Amino acid sequence: MLNLIMQPVAVIASVAAPAQQGPVETPYRGHVIDWQGKLASPDIVKSIEQQIDLVEAVKVSPEVMAFFRAQRILINEDPEDISRAGLRTFLARRIHPADNPVLLHELIHRWTFDRIPGRAQNPELVRLYEAARASGDFPANAYMLKNPNEFLAMTASTVIHGRAARPPFTRDNVRKKLPELYAFIIREFGFHE
Ligand SMILES: [Zn+2]
Repeated sequence: MLNLIMQPVAVIASVAAPAQQGPVETPYRGHVIDWQGKLASPDIVKSIEQQIDLVEAVKVSPEVMAFFRAQRILINEDPEDISRAGLRTFLARRIHPADNPVLLHELIHRWTFDRIPGRAQNPELVRLYEAARASGDFPANAYMLKNPNEFLAMTASTVIHGRAARPPFTRDNVRKKLPELYAFIIREFGFHE
């Protein structure tokens, strides 16, 4: 009975589903991880939970954090599929680098899709993206310059998390080189240090 109390979701799912399938979903720190019925190894479970820890560590407005927590995290069934988000949020079924906020990046895509007027074609965002491209301050082939959608996800996740493994690398770099975009990110996500 103790196990039933400690792990209600997992126990109910294993009763309801065929034996080869894992739990349907697991709650973690106010988020819901949807395993799409396919069990993951403990190291992958730990890595996905650690991605949530990275999101929970950031300082954004209560509205934005509530939105982030409300997004069901769908774990790709095929381990070859990449993380992506638009209408829904998908995370790769893999061990993610510990300091790479992949989930935060995808949740920013979700916010862009749901909450920004015009989504990634928002005129102010597009203008800032074009200006960053023209500036020559960033490598032309950098992922952050791929399109306005990746531009916001890469720069906002870097500002909010503080750093990234690829351009724009640091919060200070965005603040110094893209001050208007930095103000846009502060306004949009309520980021505070
Ligand atoms: Zn992206």
